[in-house]
Amino acid sequence: MLSVGDTEKIILNLVQPLDYTEVVDLLAATGRVLASSVTSNLDFPHWDNSAMDGYAVRYEDVKHSSAENPSVLEIVEEIPAGYQPQFTIQSGQAARIFTGAVMPKGADTVVMQEKTHSEENRIFILAAPKPQEFVRHKAAFYQAGAQLLPAGIVLNAPEIAVLAALQCSQLSVYRRPRVAILSTGDELVTPDQVLEAGQIVDSNQYALAALVKQSGAEPLLLGIVRDNPVALAETIAHAIASADIVISSGGVSVGDYDYVDKILESLGAKIHARAVAMRPGKPLTVASFPNHDLGDGEKTQHSGLYFGLPGNPAAVLVTFWRFVQPAIKKLSGLAESGEVKFIKVRSHDELRSDGKREIYVWGKLQLIDGVYEFHKAGGSHSSGNLINLAQTNALAVLPVGKTLVSPTQEVEVLQVGN
Ligand code: AMP
Ligand code: MG
Repeated sequence: MLSVGDTEKIILNLVQPLDYTEVVDLLAATGRVLASSVTSNLDFPHWDNSAMDGYAVRYEDVKHSSAENPSVLEIVEEIPAGYQPQFTIQSGQAARIFTGAVMPKGADTVVMQEKTHSEENRIFILAAPKPQEFVRHKAAFYQAGAQLLPAGIVLNAPEIAVLAALQCSQLSVYRRPRVAILSTGDELVTPDQVLEAGQIVDSNQYALAALVKQSGAEPLLLGIVRDNPVALAETIAHAIASADIVISSGGVSVGDYDYVDKILESLGAKIHARAVAMRPGKPLTVASFPNHDLGDGEKTQHSGLYFGLPGNPAAVLVTFWRFVQPAIKKLSGLAESGEVKFIKVRSHDELRSDGKREIYVWGKLQLIDGVYEFHKAGGSHSSGNLINLAQTNALAVLPVGKTLVSPTQEVEVLQVGN
């Protein structure tokens, strides 16, 4: 049986970032991964401008100003934001100016209006400013030609704002990874079917669709497949031909109806993991399909990846967050390492393990007096229980050998979901 850490390494080594890009409108780019770095031929600010509502002046004219002995200047024009100044400020002159307006030639300093007093076309400067005060100089924030955004970052509101300011209305992003999802089991029905004795709803398909979307990939839902080797082989072959990653749930343990591993082998897959020393999630199959061809003109350089997750709903979530999500992120072209990151927080509850496997306890990170604490979900932590999974935003991890975390002790936590 593989350790969690070794399984993660094997998976991340199998994944190569997708090399396919598409052009999207800026408004459709939120959450996408930027495929090429961005530079601008504009300086930021584009020109010297005022950071205040006030008066544009020559510093030399006003450097000795005080309330008792104000400098008096003639106002030669008013410059609102969006207009070009018409005059060059000469000694003894000032321009009324507003925030974001272009500085007039000759002026080098802005005096905020609160430090002035005006009478008709004259302005009294009641305090000496600092040289160049309240002027935002051309190119002070960014010089044209330097790299502004690197490739491989996710585009969120701040990056979208920057791209809009650059007049970048279309941009190149990586294609989203395609992830096929199938559920195996004779006991499964869809949520809209009448439940007969012995049946349960295929909740995993829905959980996985949500997880895949939240990871920035495109889910391809293949529905429920009966515990029948022929039907399963057909669906898995179709899934592999249609997606970068295939996720099945159920059918990977050692029961009489657990066919997935045998089918994968018969389809030419290389099996990299069959069981991982963790709970929940022990029966976990990881396989790859070399020379995988999506058949739509894209020859993939990477292998098709197959995750056979256990059927238990808790195991599906935990193994997705721990292994599948990092693989999707790496495939997406993200420059940041796909490895899962843990944070250390105080545990509110006692957490126990037999120490033999790596234990993942679901619960919530809660902010208590400004400090994050892990609160274990109430109710049963059987991997068959999905009811108390609702509102999980963190998994506490007890490594092999660790049998007890007492309340208030530190525990490593993986933040999950959004
Ligand atoms: P298996 O791995 O196929 O032995 O399934 C383990 C447990 O998970 C069984 O109790 C199944 O009924 C349950 N299970 C399997 N697939 C699903 C599914 N798609 N949705 C909800 N529960 C499932
Ligand atoms: Mg089953």
